[in-house]
Amino acid sequence: MSAGPEEIIREEIRRLSAYHVPSAEGMVKLDAMENPYSLPGALRREIGEAVAEAALNRYPDPRAPALTTRLREVMGIAPQFDILLGNGSDEIIHVIVQCAARPGAVVVAPRPSFVMFGMYAKFAGVRYVGVPLRADFALDLDAFMRALAEHRPAVVFIAYPNNPTGNLFSEEAIAAIVSAAPGLVVIDEAYQPFARRTFLTRLSEFPNLVVMRTLSKLGLAGIRLGYAVARPEWIREFDKVRAPYNVNVLTQIIAERMLAHRDVLDEQARDIRAERERLAGELKRLSGVTVFPSDANFILVRVPDAPRIFEGMKRRGVLVKNLHGDMPLLDHCLRLTIGTPEENRLCLAALSTALAEALPRR
Ligand code: PMP
Repeated sequence: MSAGPEEIIREEIRRLSAYHVPSAEGMVKLDAMENPYSLPGALRREIGEAVAEAALNRYPDPRAPALTTRLREVMGIAPQFDILLGNGSDEIIHVIVQCAARPGAVVVAPRPSFVMFGMYAKFAGVRYVGVPLRADFALDLDAFMRALAEHRPAVVFIAYPNNPTGNLFSEEAIAAIVSAAPGLVVIDEAYQPFARRTFLTRLSEFPNLVVMRTLSKLGLAGIRLGYAVARPEWIREFDKVRAPYNVNVLTQIIAERMLAHRDVLDEQARDIRAERERLAGELKRLSGVTVFPSDANFILVRVPDAPRIFEGMKRRGVLVKNLHGDMPLLDHCLRLTIGTPEENRLCLAALSTALAEALPRR
């Protein structure tokens, strides 16, 4: 008899549960930080025509020259740095961790942060150390410096702004970490369009810095395109580990066309930022709700009974993310993605009704 999963699959993989994506069918979907807006008709037609011309019979050009040129121009990437494209920034995290996964290597990140940093470390058999944030979700710089000295991490990931807390860490604290880190530091700027702060302009100061971005939160989560910018000597190594044709023909064409119309994406990001401020103001008026400051396209709130309120909102057709149980810092926290004004109205209404149900009657 041949061996089954118990003998063949690594213990740490068998112990994991798969990344769970709940069904949002028929719901107001505010759980995954997507952009809620669709594209103007003229742009849709332009993309449709470009896609109709695509050479679907050919493998994609792995250098993606048209897309890379457009990215450089639109994002202001200086010529002395190189770009790695990924199937989402997820794949870039995976590639970097695999490249650095020497025996005994350690990956460090703040905690809580994006869960996939830890997952990819696990897949690569690398030890992962999460450095707890302070109660106000600021970086604990002393604790981080101690972690750098103790674990000598090969890679540090810092999401700027952070997910799921939504805040921007202090730029000086991050710069101090990059200077002190013995290995690579990846600044994950997935939410940069909503914060408009970046380390891209500081790449030349730090030889060990990688800046990672994605088009997902800008409105293109469906095409899966992330990128990393760093010195050529780093990108050259990462490039060996990615799948040969990781960014498909359709993604390359659509991303290039969309970036040519950057103004549309910028306008949507501006609307989302304005809605975030408006929604935060409304949320603060609900009694029992703590609203944490956000520079991202979502807002973290603390409520009296998160599991119950999450279910109450779901029954009213609004799907958000319940973070209760992940770690004590996130006790009774819900993460609300910013939607359209109408979606946000429904979210607020569902939250206040669910709150009224959950709060003891006076
Ligand atoms: N980084 C952060 C901080 C994220 O929150 C996410 C997605 N939620 C990603 C990276 C991954 O984005 P994608 O793979 O869609 O580029």
